[in-house]
Amino acid sequence: MNVLVINAGSSSLKYQLLNPDSGAVLAKGLCERIGIDGKFTYKPQVEGKEALKEVDVAMPTHSEAIQAVLYALVDAKNGVIASMKEIDAVGHRVVHGGEAFNKSVLITDEVMKAIEDCIPLAPLHNPANLTGIRACEKVMPGVPMVAVFDTAFHQTMPAKAYMYALPYEYYETDKVRRYGFHGTSHKYVAGRAAAMLGKKSEELKLISCHLGNGSSVTAVDGGKSVDTSMGFTPLAGLPMGTRSGDLDAGILEYLMAKYNMDIKEMVSILNKKSGVLGVSGVSSDFRDLENAGKEGNKRASLSVEMFNYGVKKLIGSYAAAMGGVDAIIFTAGVGENSASQRLAIASDLEFMGVKMDAEANKVRGEEAVISAPDSKVKVLLIPTNEELMIAMDTAAIVSGK
Ligand code: AMP
Repeated sequence: MNVLVINAGSSSLKYQLLNPDSGAVLAKGLCERIGIDGKFTYKPQVEGKEALKEVDVAMPTHSEAIQAVLYALVDAKNGVIASMKEIDAVGHRVVHGGEAFNKSVLITDEVMKAIEDCIPLAPLHNPANLTGIRACEKVMPGVPMVAVFDTAFHQTMPAKAYMYALPYEYYETDKVRRYGFHGTSHKYVAGRAAAMLGKKSEELKLISCHLGNGSSVTAVDGGKSVDTSMGFTPLAGLPMGTRSGDLDAGILEYLMAKYNMDIKEMVSILNKKSGVLGVSGVSSDFRDLENAGKEGNKRASLSVEMFNYGVKKLIGSYAAAMGGVDAIIFTAGVGENSASQRLAIASDLEFMGVKMDAEANKVRGEEAVISAPDSKVKVLLIPTNEELMIAMDTAAIVSGK
């Protein structure tokens, strides 16, 4: 079976054609500047086929973008499939499923309506995701499509974890609660962790640290998300590349009054100018911060220390929340690549049974156990693969499993 995975943004569309059983990727790429001047990138993963990089293709709408993807996939010379019939299903990443979706679903008119109803919760992302779905429906009629939500995995959280201590009607009437994000990634690495440890998901207490440009930590008890650090929006939790993470809401009133800012300006600062970029004044990229730190830039070092400290505190609190932890997982850009940050985060946790192996930790980008052999709590590096998770969910749903 081949699944086309689509991640549609407002003017871009990422795609990947893969086999969910073997995990083999046939081709992947990106359509950018949709509705502007249209740039198309195609990277076949099959021997002897040639890639296209940022070539000009007219893409007034997402439909032409999908059409360009299909032409490239079936192209006589550099295509990877003989005809469109070899695409068995399409899996769409959808950011927000609200409380309506606790798992991936086959897309129907009813599902489209429910995704639309979630637009107020993700005003930038859900409309783009819907546009991607409609474009596929137009260009590939009859091919089954599945929606895979960033929020769905976290719908198992108990009320004590997802409620904010606000007047209750804001939850009842306005749906203000913790939803959590990165669910597809947390679900994928939690599943891989069980496989690596040779245990059933139901038997394990895991803490999954997705540390990238956006970061979140999730407590996974018995295969279910029971708490997560992102909240009503992805602005919550850890300090990130440019997002502030959690802060005292009183700061907003203080700064808005002092600098005569409106809420839009304030929130834009919290989303785009804060986090490690804001503290360091150097970059949102952790590689730049490490280099600047080595050259003696104290604010760059401080920003990374704040980030690592935030992750460490979440690990401690989620271990307490679950009454223990069997394994800690590191994933995403920083988690997969930065040995120094993994070590800083997971060191000095011997009191709770975590003992790192500095040598084993020198690995990057591949599945590995990076704790010492006698560590009670295993520490795992697991590269995330959201596209594969989307393809696996899609395949399971369309084949009725
Ligand atoms: P992601 O959002 O998962 O793509 O992660 C992006 C983040 O990972 C960026 O801040 C990168 O700087 C960071 N990253 C990638 N490679 C490394 C590395 N070798 N050391 C530290 N951070 C890295």
